[in-house]
Amino acid sequence: MPTKPVYHDFHVHVGETIAGYRLRDSFADLNRLRQRDERPLGAIGVFVTEAAGITLKDKYMAMLHRAQRDYEGKVFWHLSPVQSTAEEVVPLLDAHSDIKLYSTYRNAGLYSSYEVIGRWMQALQGHETRILVHCEDDLTVQEYSAKHPFRHPHDHCLRRPELAEVRAVERVLDLAITHQHPVHIVHVSSPQSALLIKAAKQHFAGITCETAPHYLLFNEDKLKEPQAHRYICTPPFRSEKSRGILVELLQDGVFDILASDHCAFTEADKDRYRDEPEQVPCGIAGVETLYSSVYSALVETGKLSEAELDRLCRIKPAELMNMDELQD
Ligand SMILES: [Zn+2]
Repeated sequence: MPTKPVYHDFHVHVGETIAGYRLRDSFADLNRLRQRDERPLGAIGVFVTEAAGITLKDKYMAMLHRAQRDYEGKVFWHLSPVQSTAEEVVPLLDAHSDIKLYSTYRNAGLYSSYEVIGRWMQALQGHETRILVHCEDDLTVQEYSAKHPFRHPHDHCLRRPELAEVRAVERVLDLAITHQHPVHIVHVSSPQSALLIKAAKQHFAGITCETAPHYLLFNEDKLKEPQAHRYICTPPFRSEKSRGILVELLQDGVFDILASDHCAFTEADKDRYRDEPEQVPCGIAGVETLYSSVYSALVETGKLSEAELDRLCRIKPAELMNMDELQD
């Protein structure tokens, strides 16, 4: 266990294959971040996405085995069912896991309608299991994607507008309040969705949310740079105005945690279809710099206190992962 204060990352994609691409990092790669001199990595929240040809349970057991072998810190698990039913998933849930659903990605087979999300809440009644939701309204994404062909990386911003996130967040918050079921909204990128979440928390204390450093530190101009395709991730970076307001909302304490949504692919995989942005695997790296990037940009400039960053990157994520004080 590191003797220095650690940071935890609640949202990490590691050690699995996504959309046909092997992720760049293994559990052993992340374990190296535990040995460094600056603030080391503590616990990680890792996704297990059900895939063709293997049950969610079998994939989870295989990843659990590799994590126990190669990662010395705590691993919390976010299980993403695709085919598995609630009867199959509920026995897998304990204090070290929760569920993740997507309101988009129909083509990848990950999509859950609002009705299905509501049904999961009903099925999990009495289990208190938090449901993480990737909120982008799929119909809105389809509508805007039809209007904006994917010719350049910046088109990603037009195809997946803030409106898509806002619409889905609104629906999912309604479901959480109706069913009084704990919900965590991942990678909030739009100030308007953050405000909806802030308001909904007044009605139901089981609502939490995160944003990622890249929505606080970058804007859509990054997707106009020469290597823009390497920055394609979902949701996309937003306008400078939205980025600025998101920082203000962070200062106001609207976000429960910061998490990286680390989803690194190899440079070769990211570059292979650089001229066909729709084929570029979606996701960017971030676990290594989750704490340090925000420290340099916001703490060193006096915009955020060190205590607040510690709350966002250590204290509160530890709570969400049901950790006790001594764990890392
Ligand atoms: Zn993610």
